[in-house]
Amino acid sequence: MTPPFAFELPTPSVAIAGDRNRFPVRRVWCVGRNYAEHAREMGFSERELPFFFAKPADALVPGGGRVRVPPRTQNLQHEIELVVAIGRPGAGVAATAAAGLVFGYAVGLDMTRRDLQLQLREQKRPWEMAKAFDQSAPIGEIHRIEETGPIERGEIWLDVNGERRQHSDLAKLIWSVPEIIANLSEYVALAPGDLIFTGTPEGVGRVQAGDVLHGGIAGIGELRVELTA
Ligand code: MN
Repeated sequence: MTPPFAFELPTPSVAIAGDRNRFPVRRVWCVGRNYAEHAREMGFSERELPFFFAKPADALVPGGGRVRVPPRTQNLQHEIELVVAIGRPGAGVAATAAAGLVFGYAVGLDMTRRDLQLQLREQKRPWEMAKAFDQSAPIGEIHRIEETGPIERGEIWLDVNGERRQHSDLAKLIWSVPEIIANLSEYVALAPGDLIFTGTPEGVGRVQAGDVLHGGIAGIGELRVELTA
């Protein structure tokens, strides 16, 4: 390349358990309000069609570790989530065929500027500055579906400074992973490298510099993040 574009643009990627190769990331999709108890704590009660938002791929923090508290918020919150990695393309996919698109699963954190999100929601404005900021998506290793089987249930939890804050079961997802894939693939053609954060259970709360977030999902490993100023 010639100046002024003489720089490398790395492809974000996530480690794969037991594999030297990494999973290159194309897009990061997220599902809103996908556990009934969390929908209730956010002020909603009705089951409705899933809705989606996105984060840039370079918002990922592969492997977790030290993460800076972002500026412009007084209410940074944690959302522990099952992440689905897409390995095969598909558009208009039936839920019964959705497992065929799945490469594997990981533990992720959908970090959120809750104060901005509520303000933007109130103003009917886009959510990006509340959801899509730098380092807003720590993620653990991807476990291949060949190893885990299709994930339908299993404990999901998050501790902050050793104290349990979120605890639920994937069986309580309002929209299951196959249903999410089917729904999302009606809007966009899913492709290898896409990740889907599938929503968080109840118990979200504020965190600050110095806090240690430690979460996990049965059979899919754990993720640890230390927030720094
Ligand atoms: Mn979320």
